[in-house]
Amino acid sequence: MSYQFDLFVIGAGSGGVRASRIAASKGYKVAVAEGSSLGGTCVNIGCVPKKLFVYGSEFGHGVEQAAGYGWMYDGVSFDWATLRDNKTNEIARLNGIYQMMLDKAGVEIISGFASFIDDHTVSVNGVHYTAEKILIAVGAKPFIPEFDGKQWVVSSNEMFYLEELPKKALVVGGGYIAVEFAGILNGLNVDTTLIYRGEQLLRGFDQDVRDFACEEYIKSGIDVRLNTDVERIELADPTNESSHRVVYFKDGSSEEFGLVLYATGRVPNVEALALENASVETSNSGAIKVDHNFTTSVPSIFALGDVTDNIQLTPVAIKEAMALIAYWFDGKEIDFDYDNIPTAVFSQPSIGTVGLTEQDAESRGLDFRVYQTDFRPMKHTLSGSTERALMKMLVSNSDDRVIGAHMVGDYAGEIIQGLGVALKAGATKADFDATVGVHPTSAEEFVTFS
Ligand code: NDP
Repeated sequence: MSYQFDLFVIGAGSGGVRASRIAASKGYKVAVAEGSSLGGTCVNIGCVPKKLFVYGSEFGHGVEQAAGYGWMYDGVSFDWATLRDNKTNEIARLNGIYQMMLDKAGVEIISGFASFIDDHTVSVNGVHYTAEKILIAVGAKPFIPEFDGKQWVVSSNEMFYLEELPKKALVVGGGYIAVEFAGILNGLNVDTTLIYRGEQLLRGFDQDVRDFACEEYIKSGIDVRLNTDVERIELADPTNESSHRVVYFKDGSSEEFGLVLYATGRVPNVEALALENASVETSNSGAIKVDHNFTTSVPSIFALGDVTDNIQLTPVAIKEAMALIAYWFDGKEIDFDYDNIPTAVFSQPSIGTVGLTEQDAESRGLDFRVYQTDFRPMKHTLSGSTERALMKMLVSNSDDRVIGAHMVGDYAGEIIQGLGVALKAGATKADFDATVGVHPTSAEEFVTFS
């Protein structure tokens, strides 16, 4: 049986682009279908523009804090359209780079959403394409629960293109996206309320990190309300869709906001794929089921990244794509290691984490000890800010290995990357102790714990 392509990739996001590009450079005839912009969520409506917005909003705090260092700014103002449009231009530049990389590798880019016809055939805009292998890398999309007035809220997708910033905003959710956007809005001088249905934000993170970060968010000016949920939302003026949103909370209270952002998780983006035509199996959550080689229930169809049940992070999808390439071209069975993946939350202050939380270590019955400190970072001795930083390290008593490192504070993402290497390499507390600190930094606390 001959096919038009060796590999047809559905979705030109982080995982799909990497798989297409490398497979083509190794001799496969490859096509990639993308219904939206090249680069997927991360480049267009995720990590990259989010980080630019974080930088943008940090300048807001920076202006206040600079006074203690002698800088006086008169008539400081912020123009949302400048930040939004400069960000959009930068994303367009990145889209162009993706296009160039794929062209250079000889990948055929097909514009449109693909759906399955059978195990080796997909359709895009009514045209059928056949391939020996098909890779599903379509990612995930925002999930918003059902309630009356759901149509009056936005997801993170819309936040990147708002016509104007509201004066007052409500963010719903307690995960990565909720705390990151609450920080962005707060830094851009929007009166920001963050509500979460549970006891504490950031479920799954170390409890001390959760408590400390929440306190810092409150200190930074975010109105954090825990154990709070929305019952329904109405327009303040039923004849005007741009009017304020009146949010009725489950405790019976109500309040008006200019904008309501739901950041309540993301779900696999499988609806348009017509998976039933190829009998590709999904889990209860809608994620595509794959084995350790990222092979679905159909041997010719593969899936990776956020559309599967694995960890939803860009660098994970990229590494999965590289592992899949090695499997296809070198016959190397995949043994992907999902342990010790460092990650950062770009809230303000930021969070960095790698390895086990104290609660993980306890639930595994490990014998371990904890080192922990919190302090006022040197920068804030003159800035006037009351912000503090937290650092925490878990060490196994049986072999002295560092099994978890956590931080809340400036540059946490940058710092945790290095610690990720250390944990991956199996560094012990003795190795950390033998490392000379970089002075004066916050990071040196990790090598001076006693
Ligand atoms: P998360 O899964 O991190 O958080 C979802 C939040 O929404 C949780 O607090 C959850 O509460 C809450 N929630 C879920 N359902 C409801 C509901 N029906 N009503 C009220 N609250 C609800 O999802 P995000 O959307 O924030 O992010 C998705 C993923 O994207 C992340 O898990 C992460 O992997 C990735 N990401 C990574 C970033 C980074 O690396 N910096 C940045 C942004 C996203 P509960 O805890 O009670 O379930």
